Amino acid sequence: MPVRSVCVFCGASIGANPAYREAAVALGEAIARRGLTLVYGGGAVGLMGTVADAALAAGGEVVGIIPQSLMNAEIGHKGLTRLEVVDGMHARKARMAELSDAFIALPGGLGTLEELFEVWTWGQLGYHAKPLGLLDVNGFYEKLGGFLDHIVEEGFVRPQHRAMLLLGQQPDELLEGMDRFESPVLPKWVDKQPD
Ligand code: AMP
Repeated sequence: MPVRSVCVFCGASIGANPAYREAAVALGEAIARRGLTLVYGGGAVGLMGTVADAALAAGGEVVGIIPQSLMNAEIGHKGLTRLEVVDGMHARKARMAELSDAFIALPGGLGTLEELFEVWTWGQLGYHAKPLGLLDVNGFYEKLGGFLDHIVEEGFVRPQHRAMLLLGQQPDELLEGMDRFESPVLPKWVDKQPD
């Protein structure tokens, strides 16, 4: 399926290394340059604000989805193509997923991981067939990759489901991989016993 809109999950903080901010700028610009719509959490803070500002400055379309309860904390971005204010976190995630053809996580914290893992588990269950990937800035996600391989070795995740998570060092590399992505068609259950 051609990717027309990309959801970016990322930190509401800026992170300790300037490389994270630079990667957020590069990703926002790459999304806009390719004529894709950026979907994200709607805040003006941290890497969230950075990726949105970069896409807007490059002439891109940006849609933000923010819960009413976070409008102050994450400072709802005033300059977006569209800002949707929703009832809560679950509504935010459902709406971001609905509007997006693909998902990318930049470096971030617990919220970023939670959002990525939720959308991955939905893909694993066959609820959607959309690509998802990590922008691995300065090896930020290397240790997570090692742990995910461990989970596969220990028999809790199929290698094909592990392989759904794409990894790229550069935005264009990741976005091109997403256009070629085919979701595996196989059950989630690794060793289901017959009824
Ligand atoms: P963080 O990666 O923790 O800086 O958070 C990044 C984004 O994820 C922020 O917009 C948070 O509001 C959001 N977030 C935090 N916790 C959750 C959660 N449990 N579910 C969905 N999004 C969350």
